[in-house]
Amino acid sequence: MKIDQEKNNNGNYGKIAIAVLLMIFFMTLLPGMSGSTGAQDIVRNIKYTEFVEMVNENKFKSVDEKEGYVYGYVTNGSSGQSLYRAKLVTNRLGEDKDLMTAIEKNKTPIESVGSIPAAGGFKFSYLLWPAIMIAGFWLLSSRRKQGGGENGDKIFSVGKTRVAEKGDAIPNVNFKDVAGIDEAKKELEEVVQFLKAPEKFKKIGAKIPKGVLLMGAPGTGKTLLAKAVAGEAGVPFFSISGSEFVEMFVGVGASRVRDLFGKARKAAPCIVFIDEIDAVGKRRGSGQNGGNDEREQTLNQLLVEMDGFANSETIIVLAATNRSELLDSALTRPGRFDRQVVVDRPDIHGREEILKVHARDKKFAPDVDMNTIARKIPGFVGADIANLLNEAAILAAREEREEINMADLEEASEKVTIGPERKSRMALEKEKIIVAYHEVGHALTQKLLPYTEPVHKVTIIPRGMAALGYTMTLPTEDRYLKSKNEYLSELVVLLGGRAAEEIIFGDVTTGASNDIERATAIAYAMVTRFGMDEKFGPLLLDNTREGDMFQQKHYSDITGKEIDDEVKAMVNNAYTNAKKILTDNRDLFEKITRELLKRETITGEQLDRMIKGEDLDLNVQ
Ligand code: ADP
Ligand code: ZN
Repeated sequence: MKIDQEKNNNGNYGKIAIAVLLMIFFMTLLPGMSGSTGAQDIVRNIKYTEFVEMVNENKFKSVDEKEGYVYGYVTNGSSGQSLYRAKLVTNRLGEDKDLMTAIEKNKTPIESVGSIPAAGGFKFSYLLWPAIMIAGFWLLSSRRKQGGGENGDKIFSVGKTRVAEKGDAIPNVNFKDVAGIDEAKKELEEVVQFLKAPEKFKKIGAKIPKGVLLMGAPGTGKTLLAKAVAGEAGVPFFSISGSEFVEMFVGVGASRVRDLFGKARKAAPCIVFIDEIDAVGKRRGSGQNGGNDEREQTLNQLLVEMDGFANSETIIVLAATNRSELLDSALTRPGRFDRQVVVDRPDIHGREEILKVHARDKKFAPDVDMNTIARKIPGFVGADIANLLNEAAILAAREEREEINMADLEEASEKVTIGPERKSRMALEKEKIIVAYHEVGHALTQKLLPYTEPVHKVTIIPRGMAALGYTMTLPTEDRYLKSKNEYLSELVVLLGGRAAEEIIFGDVTTGASNDIERATAIAYAMVTRFGMDEKFGPLLLDNTREGDMFQQKHYSDITGKEIDDEVKAMVNNAYTNAKKILTDNRDLFEKITRELLKRETITGEQLDRMIKGEDLDLNVQ
């Protein structure tokens, strides 16, 4: 998501040269520490799982990564090494979560990190870090010394080279790499046309857009989309992130903006992408961040640059934000970011398309059905989906399988949503029984009530930190509208867990606190915002939005009391209903719970069969 950048880069070549010399000096000073795999070394190939185990058992003096393999050194010294190697599950050691966790836990030193070019056998020994740090400190202190004047030349050069590190290249990304956000793509199609043949548009007097604001949740693919626009049009891509400016010395942000646009002008037609523009473009005087000079200077510089584009230059600025309501209105004025494109969370079809994009470079078993997966992950954005497929690939590789199967995908999707499965944290026996009744309380009310979504599965295998068990629903389609009846049923289902506990044990636990919280929130919203209460009718009583600091009430204290009463009645009514459903079907309720305790997981289909009166075959899952 974020743009790569070299943090310690300085425009002063002399200093860099000295720093490099310093590093080389240290490298030669520490021979044999670079962990080379010489000819005398005895390399033993082992399985990935064994490797992780060996790290966990602290068998290695150090580990190393090279060309998709990870190496474990048993002894120190450069020759006659006894070492083990295993194929990495991901491309890079740093991305290999299991292995990294083990390495971090046991503090096993890492000899090198694969991204460093292997040319000439150069390696970053971990012992080199002191040298780099000394060089870094030295550079920093000499920079500070000159940093008094706001726009001093030296400061200037700091901004200059940092930007020069990025951009320039035409991204290797196309529209076909972006899926599930077709509307945003369509809107940007025009920008691609402009960039491809600006003269054509200028000749007939069409105004070329200057700035387009991409608005959407993190991970929906805004950066990817911006890159794809440049890739499609075959123009260079320059990028910068708003958050980088916040911690800068005064004046640096503005100078970097100036410098970036200077380069962009030379490369035009091109795309300039500003990620997290809200970090600099926050509405002025919005209270927070009271008078951050740096931010304002940067913002002003950005506006100056955008206003100053000559008609002959085709530079299109794309900026991303997930909180457009916070933006300074100066940014959205005509001639600036006057176009706004919403990048939505993908719907079910979109999620399937994104799955397919990221599946291109992976192998799957024949049983894999992306549509089923897509249905299981409402709310997932592109970044989550990429993450999901990566997790699934890791699961398959861990078992030395060549293909990713459906079980990997299911497990990975639950891992990404709820957290890793934690069988070891199996609740105490008594607690497990309570959890089982509680979950069946949700699942059975959901199955027996109208206006509900299908149950996908019920499980009492603990996941993540909080959930001791959960009931998973499988929406048949993405929904934007929800009816009063659906909400009323949802209230009953939410309270079904608590009702089950009361019926069976005559006592209740804290296990329902999240359910209660959600039920209360829904009931309040129904009364005060959705106009779904008989007494008040279609009236907006409260338009406090999520995350608002202060409530925006439109009612008196007396009305407030009445609202509370209505909500109370609604919730209590739902609770009574839940208890009735479970008591009326007590035998079925108990039978399903027994099966759940036995199997730990019951699918929606198994639930259907039990409701029909069938028995589940113990041998067939
Ligand atoms: P944002 O900038 O909106 O936070 P990114 O563009 O950085 O999101 O998305 C991160 C990664 O997630 C991308 O590099 C890509 O691998 C994946 N991704 C996100 N959205 C999509 C999408 N619509 N189609 C395909 N991949 C996506
Ligand atoms: Zn519950």
